Amino acid sequence: MTRKRRPKRRLKGKAVLFFLMLLLLVGAAVCLICGWIFMELGTDAERTITTVISNSENSYGTSETISSSKPPVEAVTAEAKTLSLEVGESTVVSVSVEPKTVENPKLVYSSDNEAVASVDQTGEIVGIAPGTAKISVTAEDNEAATAQITVTVCEKEGGSKPESGNTSSNEGSAELTYIDGILIVNKTYALPEDYAPGVDPTAKAAFDEMAADAAEEGLNLYISSGYRSYEYQAGLYDRYVARDGQEVADTYSARPGHSEHQTGLAFDLNTISMDFAETAEGIWVTEHCHEYGFIIRYPSGKEDVTGYQYEPWHIRYLGVETATAVWESGLCLEEYLNITSVYAEE
Ligand SMILES: [Zn+2]
Repeated sequence: MTRKRRPKRRLKGKAVLFFLMLLLLVGAAVCLICGWIFMELGTDAERTITTVISNSENSYGTSETISSSKPPVEAVTAEAKTLSLEVGESTVVSVSVEPKTVENPKLVYSSDNEAVASVDQTGEIVGIAPGTAKISVTAEDNEAATAQITVTVCEKEGGSKPESGNTSSNEGSAELTYIDGILIVNKTYALPEDYAPGVDPTAKAAFDEMAADAAEEGLNLYISSGYRSYEYQAGLYDRYVARDGQEVADTYSARPGHSEHQTGLAFDLNTISMDFAETAEGIWVTEHCHEYGFIIRYPSGKEDVTGYQYEPWHIRYLGVETATAVWESGLCLEEYLNITSVYAEE
């Protein structure tokens, strides 16, 4: 009996040992596999976290605008879908937004063809050259809320020029004032209500040459507001007075008949904003516009003389010789000609 049992016990002992080693091996293998899986999971988890973070960063900008106190604009509607303008003519199309509860909605205006029709951020559309352009009005906080206006610009029919003699038969309160051959318009000197020359072709050609030279340096210059009629200026000024009061409006907007834009010799360039002075385009215009016959009409530091705040975007055509002389003098046009700019009733 004992003889038979011994080998059995040895066999049992070996089996147990074998089983333990197998367990150890399997355990190690499981550990290895688990470790590998864990590492893979770890990497995946990290990847997921990175994606989540970058996603939230991407959406942050938009969600911030949307979650501001103002409700977003859901729809933008333009009163007119099509519009015809003569070269030099300008207009503002009424735009409404939904919901109506949005006060002072931020709208962004753009033209797909600035060479044909330009638009500024007040919504003023100006005919520049014959052709067709699409003007878009889009809510700043919702790109889906947008309206389009197709503008057809045609050649101007007739229109009086200062040289044409029409101007001698001025009706209304004012007559054209030339000082040293320069047509003067400011708070002291007004234009007749019926003076409607459109954009001056010489000034426009000078601008085109300037814009082409600027483009060669990688700069984009465009006219955002050119010729404005007496009637248009009256509407514009009234809106500004209603918004800011007359005293404030008078610092940045001309009363009808007192706007240089009515001469067709003044252009507002690019963005009508103080920031324009700091852009590469603004810096270039300040330094070079006299070479093309323009001056920055309302310079910084001359507010009390010109009667207007600094307008880095507003240039006035004088011809190369006069503009260069004014530029070199360091004076504003009122100082250069020794004239005032004050409304009569003040
Ligand atoms: Zn202007």
